[in-house]
Amino acid sequence: MSGCCDKPGLLPVETALERLLALAESAPIRETERLPLASAEGRVLAEPLVAGLDLPPWPNSAMDGYALRQADAGEPLPVSQCIFAGQAPEPLQADTCARIFTGAPLPAGADCVEMQENVEVLADGRVRFLEAIRAGQHVRPQGQETRRGETVLDAGTRLGPIELGLAASLGAAELTVRRRPRVALLSTGDELVEPGQSLGPGQIYNSNRRLLASWLQRLGCEVVDGGILPDDLDRTRVCLGELADVDLLLSTGGVSVGEADFLGQVLREAGELALWKLAIKPGKPLTCGHYRGVPVIGLPGNPASTLVTFALLTRPYLLRRLGCAEVTPLRFSVPAGFTWTKPGNRREYLRARLENGRAVIYANQSSGVLRSVAWADGLVEVREGTTLAEGDAVTFIPLSEVLV
Ligand code: AMP
Ligand code: MG
Repeated sequence: MSGCCDKPGLLPVETALERLLALAESAPIRETERLPLASAEGRVLAEPLVAGLDLPPWPNSAMDGYALRQADAGEPLPVSQCIFAGQAPEPLQADTCARIFTGAPLPAGADCVEMQENVEVLADGRVRFLEAIRAGQHVRPQGQETRRGETVLDAGTRLGPIELGLAASLGAAELTVRRRPRVALLSTGDELVEPGQSLGPGQIYNSNRRLLASWLQRLGCEVVDGGILPDDLDRTRVCLGELADVDLLLSTGGVSVGEADFLGQVLREAGELALWKLAIKPGKPLTCGHYRGVPVIGLPGNPASTLVTFALLTRPYLLRRLGCAEVTPLRFSVPAGFTWTKPGNRREYLRARLENGRAVIYANQSSGVLRSVAWADGLVEVREGTTLAEGDAVTFIPLSEVLV
C-alpha cells in the first residue's frame, strides 16, 4: 500500500477512495461458503442468483372474485368451481365462471378475473357482471416478475432482508457467499480505558473500539479484537507480531501529525507504509500500509473522524474486497438550512439532519464529538473552496446508507 502516496499537499477524497479500491481489487477475498438464508444476512453473494422457475409459476388471480372468459361476460354465468389459493383448479367449463380467491391459479380456459364488488349474484346462483371487463384484467400472468433462467441478483450483491426474501421466493434455501473477512481491530492510545473500568487522571473511555467492532460485524466481518495498544514501540511490535491470519489490520489513533508514530514505525520495519494527508474534515491523517503482507488501515482517533473515514473509505474498501460493485453510499441533493461562510481546503462532512426538507447541522462540529453523529441522520458534504447560503443545494449522505 505504499509508493505514490507521500506527496506534499492534501489528497482529495476521491483519489484516496480510488487508491483504496484499487488496493482492494488487488487483494480480493475469494473463498466462499454455502449458508442457509437465515444466516446469510449482511453477506455478499458469490454467484449470481438465477431463477430456477417462473414467478409466478402459473397465472393467478390478483383479486377475490370470479374467473371467466372475457367473451362470456355478457350473460350471467353459473359458478362451476371454487378455487382457493393452494388448490389446483379444473379447466373452466364452457359458459361458466369460477369463484376464485387472491393467489389461486387461474383455471385453464379463463382469461380474466372480475372482482367480487363488481358482480351481482342472482337468486339462482348465477353471476352477472356489472361492468365492462378487459381481457387479462386482475390476472397475474405466469413469469410476469421473473422468467426461469433470468439472473435475479448479481454476484457481489449485499444480502439484506429484501434480497433474502427474493431468494426465498425462488425457492433457494441456501446461497453461496464470500467468507467473512477477518479484521483485527486495534485502539491505540495510552489514555484509553474500557467501559466498566474506572477512569484515572487523563484517561478517557475507548469509544472507537465498540463503534468499529459493531459496525464491522454488521458488514459481515469477523472481528479479532486486538484491544488497546499503548503508545509504546516495543508493545506495538509485540502486539502486531501476535496478529496472524487476518485480512485487514484496522487501527485508530496515533496518526496525528507530530505524534510519536509507533504503529508507523513498526510498519516501516516489517512492511510498507504510506501516510496520507486527506483533504477531508473531520479526518485528515490516514495510514495505509502492509504488515507482513497484511493490509493495514490506520484511522484517525477522534471519534467523529474515525466514523467519517470508516464510512467513506474503509467500508467501501472492505466491500470491494468481497467483490461488491456498489460500495459508495447513495447521496442526494437537498437545500442547505444553514450558511457556510468560510471556504475550507478540505472537504467537510458536517453532521446534519433533515428538517422540513432542509439540511441543518449540529452546532458543535468538532471531530471529537461523537454525539454530533448520534444526533445526525446524515452527513452534508461541503466541497473544498465552497461557501453556502441558505437554500443552496448541498449533498446529503444518509447515515442509514453507510451503517449497513
Ligand atoms: P490520536 O490520533 O491518537 O492523536 O487521537 C486523536 C484524539 O482522539 C485524541 O483526543 C484521542 O484521545 C482520541 N482518541 C483516540 N483513540 C480513541 C478511542 N479509541 N476512543 C475515543 N477517543 C479516542
Ligand atoms: Mg493517540
